[in-house]
Amino acid sequence: MTLTGNMLIGQHATPGTREAVRAINPATNAALEPAYHGGTTEHVAQACALAWSAFDSYRETSLAARAELLDTIASEIEALGDELIERAVAETGLAHARIQGERGRTCQQLRTFARTVRAGEWLDVRVDPAQPDRQPLPRADLRQRQVPLGPVAVFGASNFPLAFSVAGGDTASALAAGCPVIVKAHGAHPGTSELVGRAVARAVKHCDLPEGVFSLLYGSGREVGIALVTDPRIKAVGFTGSQSGGIALCQAAQARPEPIPVYAEMSAVNPVYLFAGALKTRGEALAQGFVTSLTLGAGQFCTNPGLVIAVQGAALERFISLASEHLKERPAQTMLTPGIFNAYETGVGTLAEHAQRLASGLAAQGPNQCQAQLFTTRAQDFLANPRLQAEIFGAASLVVQCANDDEVRQVTEHLEGQLTATLHLDDSDIEHARALLPTLERKAGRLLVNSWPTGVEVCDAMVHGGPFPATSDSRSTSVGTAAILRFLRPVCYQDFPDSLLPDALKHSNPLALRRLLDGLREA
Ligand code: NAP
Repeated sequence: MTLTGNMLIGQHATPGTREAVRAINPATNAALEPAYHGGTTEHVAQACALAWSAFDSYRETSLAARAELLDTIASEIEALGDELIERAVAETGLAHARIQGERGRTCQQLRTFARTVRAGEWLDVRVDPAQPDRQPLPRADLRQRQVPLGPVAVFGASNFPLAFSVAGGDTASALAAGCPVIVKAHGAHPGTSELVGRAVARAVKHCDLPEGVFSLLYGSGREVGIALVTDPRIKAVGFTGSQSGGIALCQAAQARPEPIPVYAEMSAVNPVYLFAGALKTRGEALAQGFVTSLTLGAGQFCTNPGLVIAVQGAALERFISLASEHLKERPAQTMLTPGIFNAYETGVGTLAEHAQRLASGLAAQGPNQCQAQLFTTRAQDFLANPRLQAEIFGAASLVVQCANDDEVRQVTEHLEGQLTATLHLDDSDIEHARALLPTLERKAGRLLVNSWPTGVEVCDAMVHGGPFPATSDSRSTSVGTAAILRFLRPVCYQDFPDSLLPDALKHSNPLALRRLLDGLREA
């Protein structure tokens, strides 16, 4: 399949007219063909008009039809075969195995949302039947279901070119909810975006859905991105990226005459607590596991363990020494873009000024390579210096040495919102961990025991979210089936005749949904 450099406005391949951008192979710094010209505000308006015109019919498609779209997108992505893998590898510097795994995860994610849509639980049907004889006043017949918000703008993430990009989690959950999607492609992987975008457009056509269900735009965030977020036909936004980008989109969305929600996943350092018992009995395994998690994918995971917190002593010193030895053997790895590499170098430079360097990985052998880094600081210095808890996107981590449990508590209380917090503990550590839990529940979206935060399962119980700045809205998740809830809102139907009710709410329950009927969940 030949890449064209075109955007997709519905089913129409549309060339942009702004300045051309070519993807850069970060492993060589070579520019890749073809050129991708950015879209304009006019292109945004066209895509939004199509999405709006598709909304009312798409949102009332049957559960089976919507699930079929998601399944078909997965099949179309698989049918792209090696071309997709090769292009994604060239555009990101990520290894073949990683991209193949990510393709599998992306398709599984789409199919998991298809299953969720079919089951219909997300409609959260609530029925409070009329009570005409209730005293002193009768009760009306009240029925509630969830309806989709409207067209959603999705910003593809640089660090998951498949699983959090054009047909990634935000797109899958919005389509599952019944929302048309307009993707603003990430400039780091435009060819991958075009291939996947065309796969989605083919699925839309195959399923005989209105073309406005999906569009793909290229161009600058400040022009195309802001025009999308401020278009009155867009009703919600999904984003993964930098804190400054996420905040800019939130501010644009809030400044609209009709403000809309922005679900931005931004920055986290994902603290890892090493309790005394665990450090004493398995320092070597902890050091190995930590360095493996830290250096996975050049550290370019939002759940990368960027902070280690422990009480000082011989066991922590041994852990630090073992982790340093492991880290020194780790080869440098190509980062996603020259910009992300430069940001990493700047972040490491700041840490080097304010903390003590413990170890560095093997030196870079090519352009844009991330040399792993481990630093340490004392709890009092960490508490006094906000720069020490800024996210460094890449394989750098900071060990905070605490004098005692009270300093561990102070450091925990001082933390910003996080995606994850990890506890490594033995039975003897349980009470120390329990004392921290109330604070950690306030700080993080996912709490782990005796594992590592990298690797986020796509399932029903997952939470990939957390208080600011981990995300802009801690009430939701961007990974897992609960992500569908971000793009829904409740509508109540009072005293509707059965013939006018949507199927989900009809008296005969034709969709066989488990309803909350008069306060009790049906079997
Ligand atoms: P980014 O700079 O935030 O860009 C992500 C998307 O948002 C791009 O499409 C970008 O458009 C757009 N955007 C950025 N700033 C904007 C603004 N002010 N107004 C409108 N749109 C805007 O993220 P990135 O390029 O992926 O990486 C840059 C840094 O983000 C990394 O070094 C890392 O620190 C952080 N990051 C964090 C995570 C995480 O999960 N924690 C993931 C990825 C990146 P343009 O391309 O036109 O700018």
